[in-house]
Order: sequence, then C-alpha cells, then structure tokens
Amino acid sequence: MSQYWSPAIKALTPYVPGEQPRERVIKLNTNENPYPPAPGVGQALRDYATDHLRLYPDPTSAALRATLAKTFSIESQQVFVGNGSDEVLALAFQAFFCHGAPLDVPTITYSFYPVYANLYNVELRPHSLNASWEVDIEALGSASERSGVIFANPNAPTGHAHSLESIEKLLKRVTDRVVLVDEAYVDFGAESAIALIDRYPNLLVTGTFSKSRSLAGLRLGYAVGSAELIDGLQRVKDSFNSYPVDSLASLVGIAALNDEAHFDACRERVITTRERTRQRLEALGFEVLPSKANFVLAQHPDYAGAQLFAGLRERGILVRHFNTPELNNFLRITIGTDDEMDSLLEALQVICG
Ligand code: PMP
Repeated sequence: MSQYWSPAIKALTPYVPGEQPRERVIKLNTNENPYPPAPGVGQALRDYATDHLRLYPDPTSAALRATLAKTFSIESQQVFVGNGSDEVLALAFQAFFCHGAPLDVPTITYSFYPVYANLYNVELRPHSLNASWEVDIEALGSASERSGVIFANPNAPTGHAHSLESIEKLLKRVTDRVVLVDEAYVDFGAESAIALIDRYPNLLVTGTFSKSRSLAGLRLGYAVGSAELIDGLQRVKDSFNSYPVDSLASLVGIAALNDEAHFDACRERVITTRERTRQRLEALGFEVLPSKANFVLAQHPDYAGAQLFAGLRERGILVRHFNTPELNNFLRITIGTDDEMDSLLEALQVICG
C-alpha cells in the first residue's frame, strides 16, 4: 500500500482473470472460443504488415464502425469501438454512472463491475438472483433514485438470458438513466437488445469479438446505442487516446464480421457441444444451470467445487472455480471442442467414480 495511492485505489480489489497455463492443458476456464477465427483474418494480417503498419490508424475507425453498423442494421453514429468490451465498460462507468446515487446490479454477475465501481467511486446496489439463479430484472431499477442499471445478458457466470420482452419492461420503467446490457455471450443462443436501441435512447448494449468471433487476443469490443450515448463515450475516450482502436484491430475485426458463414458454423458447434455436455454432466449427477452462453455452471451434490477443480487441474484440465459463498460449490466450464469435453467428462467420471 503506497501513500501516493488515492483512496479508491487503496480500496481496490483487482479483478483476477482465470490463470494462463504454462504447459499444454485443456483450457476451459476463461470462455474463449475453441475454434479459429474466420479464414479471412489470416489474409487481413498479411495485408496489415505490408500496407498498414507504418501508418497511423483512422481516428474515427470509420470502416470498422460502418461494418458493425451494417451487421446490426443500424447507423455508424450508433456504434462505438474500444480495446475489448472491458475498456468500453470502463468508459461507460465514467461517462454514465457517476451521478452520486447507487448503480443497480445483480449480486452474481461479471466480476469486473465491482472493480470499476471501486475505481470510479460508484456505489453499487446489488440485487439477489431469484431461486432459479436468474437475474431479478423486476428488482433492477425499482428504487426511486439510481445512477443507472447494468447487467450481463446472458449473465455470467450463470448463463441465464432474459427475453427481449422482459428487458423492454425494464426499459419502460427506467428512463432517466442509462441501462447497460452487456452482451458478451449473446451469440450463443440469446436475443440481442440491439433491436431496442432505436426506441430507448438510454439503452447501451456492449459486445465483444472475444467469444463468438474467436478474437480474444485482439482486444476488440463495441457499444451500440443512441448517438447521444455514443457521443458520451467518445468524449471520455478522447481524453485518453483519440484512436479508438488500432488499425490491426479494425482490419481483423472487419474480416471477421465479413464471414457470417464461419461465424454461424462456429457458434452452432459450440451450442451443440454445450447441450451434449449438459446432458452428460447431468448423467454424472451434476446439477447444470440452463445456459445460453459458451459455458455452463454446474455443481455436484456429493463433491465440493474446490475438490473437483483440484482433481481436474491435476489431470491438466483448467475450469473456473469462484471462491465466493454463493458459488463455492460450482464449476464454470467453458465449452471447448467435442474432444476437449470428452476428456473433461472422462476425468470427472474418474474423480466422481
Ligand atoms: N463482459 C462479460 C460478461 C465477460 O464475461 C467478459 C469476458 N471476461 C467481458 C465483458 C470482457 O470481454 P472482452 O474485454 O474480452 O471484450
């Protein structure tokens, strides 16, 4: 602890991502995609080295924003891009949630939200999940004063997703502040709230190229919403670095967006493997929460989460175990290839045998 640190930094518990393995293991702990990105990405990388690397990027990221706008059938001025959706979320906290009132958030959700709340001095008002481990969307925004509402849909690490209908009910109630829907996992079977941005100027939807587009290493994320919200994000961003993303991220992101067939094939494979994994985990006695994401959250009535985590780790399989009272018994398992899931299930059969 340093005397030079501000109080918010002293109080900060940094987000600890899943561990990065040193030797070859089956890595099912950080929700990456097991399949390679679109084939066009390779060509984009080669073009980049020869044609773009020596030049400054376009400070408006116009081509990438236009391609995202076309993908979502919206306008470019409704699109913001940043270095991973984590950066976009950090900018959203600074632009929209520092009103001096609590920010409504589910108790069990993406663990970066409390980190940003600490960092930007935003008080959180956490709402418990319901008995089925679903975000209690009725409770979010029900108090009279708030700085905004944030939740992930599908939620992490539970995987449950609300329908557009229930998100719209929330938007009808909360009109005075920003409602941020984090759609990092939406492409694995949930409905996107992007369909609502034209009707709700306070709705901001964030997304990422890290999961369904297999580009976690690139650090590319986006937000879509009304032009006034995008302008708010741009103001905060400009005060740090006027280039929203570098030219490599733009070029590769465009190549990924332009291959819808590859995108659909990969996400369908992940969804099929997820459902197969779910059935086989249930056959081993696990309770598996229904998931619309590229992971499942599962617990076994007879074995502690920590014990299963350690047993898998010994066998070279990394999954995620959360050391919190509510989630202590669960494992969050990323959906890998069918072969990787077979290895996981065989190992669990031995451990639980
Ligand atoms: N939101 C949620 C709910 C996530 O789980 C993650 C990934 N850990 C992110 C956002 C951030 O994704 P990225 O920064 O890779 O775009």
